[in-house]
Amino acid sequence: MSWHAVEAHRPVDELDGEVELAVCGAIVQVWGNQDWERVSAGRSSCAECVRRTAPALRHAG
Ligand SMILES: [Zn+2]
Repeated sequence: MSWHAVEAHRPVDELDGEVELAVCGAIVQVWGNQDWERVSAGRSSCAECVRRTAPALRHAG
């Protein structure tokens, strides 16, 4: 199972279970209680989302 990057504009509590538009354009469902410790830009991530979010992450760092 792969994950997508979602640009969240609301608190996680409100997003939980909601359907959002991912960075790559995919429609994904957000689960606020997800174990984010296990989520990383690894092989399981959506390649398009990683490519689109990598520059922003570098600027943030
Ligand atoms: Zn994606």
